[in-house]
Amino acid sequence: MTAQEQADLAVAELRSTWAGEPDGVWTAPGRVNLIGEHVDYNGGRCLPMALTRVTAAAVRRRDDDRVRISSSDPDAEPFEGTLADLGPGEVSGWAGYAAGTLWALQQAGVDVPGLDVSVSSDVPLGAGLSSSASLEAAVALSAAELAGRNDAAELRHLLIQAAIRAENEVVGAGTGGMDQTVALLAEEGSALLIHTRDFRTEPVQLGLAEAGLELMVIDTRVKHTLADGQYAKRRADCDEAARQLGLEWLSDATPADVDRLSDPRLQARTRHVVTENQRVDEVVELVRAGRVAEIGPLLDGSHTSLRDDYEVSAVELDVVVEAARAAGALGARMTGGGFGGSAIALIRAADAEAVGAAVVAACRERELTLPGILTVTSGPAARRLS
Ligand code: ADP
Ligand code: MG
Repeated sequence: MTAQEQADLAVAELRSTWAGEPDGVWTAPGRVNLIGEHVDYNGGRCLPMALTRVTAAAVRRRDDDRVRISSSDPDAEPFEGTLADLGPGEVSGWAGYAAGTLWALQQAGVDVPGLDVSVSSDVPLGAGLSSSASLEAAVALSAAELAGRNDAAELRHLLIQAAIRAENEVVGAGTGGMDQTVALLAEEGSALLIHTRDFRTEPVQLGLAEAGLELMVIDTRVKHTLADGQYAKRRADCDEAARQLGLEWLSDATPADVDRLSDPRLQARTRHVVTENQRVDEVVELVRAGRVAEIGPLLDGSHTSLRDDYEVSAVELDVVVEAARAAGALGARMTGGGFGGSAIALIRAADAEAVGAAVVAACRERELTLPGILTVTSGPAARRLS
């Protein structure tokens, strides 16, 4: 589906639920993380890419202080409230991502008006492709523009921070900022190297098509939300390891620091963070040297580290990663937070069908839910469509 088609669905949702025409339609992309997993909240580096799949938000300014939000997702109940009650403890469920973003924008001094908002998305929800940040980013940009703010780099950084606050403080999910940053700052045709300590970004052209390669996303259809508590536990492990090492950011740990920790679990968590940042740097170096076809082993190494040291994989992820490699993928790894969600495989374009078939067959043989297969290209950041 194109972004415009998604926008049309959001407009139809606004018409049917809130009866009216939008002042504008904004879209924001989902993302897939090439490498650099579970490092964003540790001040590390990651290399995600925006997808062409987007959340569209059709938005209309109101004359009063009411806020109404709906989604074309059948499980999402419409939300109605006022500008004064969108904060922590006041909104629950899916609407927290959107309403919470409006709350955080107000906290940051944006004069958010009353709004009718309707969203529609083809980013699969809870699949590790960041439907949540795409929702936040589309809503954030729409509200800021309808509040009279000019779209500029400075505004986008403010929106990133508002979206992170919404997810951390209103939804209560421990996101580290990678997803919001790529949704708002991605450049079409490139991946985005993010230095999560200061949210500095650099576009990195992957050159996949030129090398005859494709990035395949394998959605295990196992919802990662089931393991929410695990995410918080990993963050707590990292905070504790950093404290014991006397570091502000665990990404500043060295390989020697790993041995200084006495708890084997904290050692393993730290080893993941240290080696994952190294792998990101090596991938960026290879890609910039025109050697993207050689990053496969680094993707494989990331998966092993996430599975064994960070313990955030799942049997479904391990099975599809193994099957993809056996069918000729140059490298494969889980992507996103883990415990389900999606894996990626770097493949030769000519192998796409064979790898897809092998992955599905492996899941069938193991009696696992059959996965969804997507070939992805890099899309643009959040933007106004009309
Ligand atoms: P991911 O971001 O990887 O898709 P999350 O668990 O972070 O997974 O976010 C998924 C949640 O975001 C959904 O369960 C839902 O509450 C909310 N969400 C995202 N997009 C939409 C949408 N278009 N409509 C309703 N809810 C949405
Ligand atoms: Mg998310």
